[in-house]
Amino acid sequence: MESETFDVAVIGAGGSGTMAYLRAVLNRNKAALFLGDADSKRKGRATWVAQVDNIPGMHDLKRPITSTTRSTLDWIQSEPDLGDGCRTIKAKVHSLEQDGEGFLLKWKDREGEHSMVAKFVVVATGIMDIQPKIGGSIEPILPFANRGDAIYCIRCDGHQTIGHKLSVIGDSDTQVYIAAMMMERYGHESMDLLTNGADPSYSEDARKLLGGYGMKLHTQPIVRVIGDAKQTGLEGFELEGGTVVETDRSIVSLGIIAYNDLLQSVKADLDAAGKALVSDKFESSCEGVFVVGDLVSGKKMQIYTGWDTAVDALDEIDRRLRMQRRRERLAN
Ligand SMILES: Cc1cc2nc3c(=O)[nH]c(=O)nc-3n(C[C@H](O)[C@H](O)[C@H](O)COP(=O)(O)OP(=O)(O)OC[C@H]3O[C@@H](n4cnc5c(N)ncnc54)[C@H](O)[C@@H]3O)c2cc1C
Repeated sequence: MESETFDVAVIGAGGSGTMAYLRAVLNRNKAALFLGDADSKRKGRATWVAQVDNIPGMHDLKRPITSTTRSTLDWIQSEPDLGDGCRTIKAKVHSLEQDGEGFLLKWKDREGEHSMVAKFVVVATGIMDIQPKIGGSIEPILPFANRGDAIYCIRCDGHQTIGHKLSVIGDSDTQVYIAAMMMERYGHESMDLLTNGADPSYSEDARKLLGGYGMKLHTQPIVRVIGDAKQTGLEGFELEGGTVVETDRSIVSLGIIAYNDLLQSVKADLDAAGKALVSDKFESSCEGVFVVGDLVSGKKMQIYTGWDTAVDALDEIDRRLRMQRRRERLAN
């Protein structure tokens, strides 16, 4: 069976992919949005955002990214003049390859494997913060991440540490600079740095700051999270050898995993962290494949940044589609 052709396929429906799809629909391009599967959603940052304080108008929303995605898709469906021929697909794209002038995308569901052709592709698959392994597993920290005791975005949630006993988990200069910033901004007088067994690679500058601000460095592996995620919340960490670090908020600063496998399959250029190197219109080095949101190199990893990258990318795609149609119309 021949694959259906779309103007644009958006892969990933966090905040950035949702904005990309909305923009495509408003531009009246024939668009498909891949929502991902249960596994990719669990690994997406959107799922872990319980509340948003740093964006006007979002304060009353619970799970703001997933709830605004749902309401946006409902709104599109309710609009009689929009969304003609557009489609949302509850699946993860597992294959992306160049196909003539466009791209062939493949996904699986209970009925088997499916495919479509898209003239343009927007990759919005995001990144994930590296989690600390505790007793060999990332599972122990997750319930505390879910309730906001483990913090992953200081621009979003740094203020949530005010009045709490703060620690930072990491092993690079970033860990020390984050700790210093939190002390300066929010008045923390003490600070525990946990490397979770890693030998830290601090620069001389970072070491100076660490000593000058009286930060306490713990290099032993974390063996247990103390506290009950349902009741007391985070109370501390037990380290190998029995030391207990009391802390009820902990910033995780261990770097990121970039979800770039689809970009690799079309040989798009990536930076050292695995994020996409893009043009000023957010096109990757593979012509026709755009990247938006957290997966873009050199941008803030924020909801509003993702929205803005999506609007620029989709307006450029729309411009190219219109220019093609304009040429064809003027030629006839
Ligand atoms: C705990 C936490 C709190 C945060 N709080 C804030 C805040 O208050 N304010 C703020 O501005 N930012 C906040 N952020 C950052 C914000 O969550 C990200 O900037 C934003 O989610 C990035 O959006 P994205 O669409 O690029 O990626 P994501 O939100 O990660 O979405 C990627 C989506 O792609 C899907 N996907 C992945 N692979 C595939 C595939 N192959 N096929 C189909 N789908 C796929 C996944 O299912 C996922 O839904 C926070 C982040 C965290 C972790």
